[in-house]
Amino acid sequence: MARIELDTLRKEFGETTAVDGISLSVADGEFLVLVGPSGCGKSTLLRTISGLETQTAGDIGVNGEIVNTAPPKERGVAMVFQNYALYPHMSAYRNMTFGLDSHGSFTDDEIEQMVAEVAATLDIQELLDRRPDELSGGEKQRVAMGRALLREPEVFLLDEPLSNLDAKLRDEMRTELTHLHEEIDATTIYVTHDQTEALTLGDRVAVMNDGQIEQVDPPQQLYDVPASQFVAEFIGSPQMNLFEGEVTTVNDQLHVESGRFGTTVPGTSQTVSDRRYTVGVRPEDLYLADEATGHQYSDPFELRVELSETLGDSVVVYATDGETTFQIRTSTRQQFDKGDAVTVVADTRRLHLFDTDTGVAVYHSKDSVSAAHTIR
Ligand code: ATP
Repeated sequence: MARIELDTLRKEFGETTAVDGISLSVADGEFLVLVGPSGCGKSTLLRTISGLETQTAGDIGVNGEIVNTAPPKERGVAMVFQNYALYPHMSAYRNMTFGLDSHGSFTDDEIEQMVAEVAATLDIQELLDRRPDELSGGEKQRVAMGRALLREPEVFLLDEPLSNLDAKLRDEMRTELTHLHEEIDATTIYVTHDQTEALTLGDRVAVMNDGQIEQVDPPQQLYDVPASQFVAEFIGSPQMNLFEGEVTTVNDQLHVESGRFGTTVPGTSQTVSDRRYTVGVRPEDLYLADEATGHQYSDPFELRVELSETLGDSVVVYATDGETTFQIRTSTRQQFDKGDAVTVVADTRRLHLFDTDTGVAVYHSKDSVSAAHTIR
């Protein structure tokens, strides 16, 4: 098993800075997910850790040893790619074992035994004689995982391994990956642009933006206490509602005013300067007024329905005050038509404020913070 330390790691391709000074520690046995929009540098970071790319500056440490110039084979890492990178003319068995025998480290019998064990773990015993074109996407993915597992790596680097699978298979493989990780306990870095994968798989999730890490934290902490507006918008579906508001604090009470939205958050101990901020409220923290019971709520405000989406277990209502369109996630089974008037309140225990210029989070209501700390 292995601990990974990245120290101000940088990777440039000509004029493009793909990785912009990243420092990060990944603990022994940890499952760390790198998530972020297309082009933010996730794959480049992973390839640089693996040794497939050489960094422009900075250090990569594995178990306290700097491996900056070590070839991939000597880093104890195995990488699984999005496209599986299987040889089309070879059987699954041969794809998995190719190269294993070349150094004479293992006899044929030993390799056969190793494959049998890995194939049983991945439930691909029946597929070993088939070529890749005779395998489904999920089966190819398992063979590629099997090839990586046979190397008994200390570190697994997975680059969007589920992205070519259909939604159902992706769900199944996600669960299997979690079990597999529990079984083999190798340090894992997993790249995805899918926030559901990130939140469900990661012990911690690093959100990348433009070559840098915006926040690295356990999933619930990311969701409840986003460090920036970028993280708040990227994590959570539907997205957090964001709108500008005037904020004043008087006697430990925080007042927020914005268009028709007005609220007071009592008993706040966090100091916030009086000025305009970007206010954030998650869709599930907005309630239809007649459904709101037992919490502390904002003043009610009236909106007009533009559109509603039924998700089965809930409905997302898009409704506007003429300036801002709010997304409200409600568990009601009610039907909403365009133009309907809805009266809405916000749970004041779950408000977020962001600096409008820098996007940095400056305030989270007490419950967001304490919920995240409880889970941590
Ligand atoms: P995606 O989710 O789309 O795969 P990503 O977050 O993995 O994106 P990278 O593939 O790491 O992003 O790319 C980061 C930046 O570096 C992009 O601007 C990309 O165009 C650039 N880049 C990546 N590889 C190369 C290369 N070999 N040569 C030149 N530029 C590259």
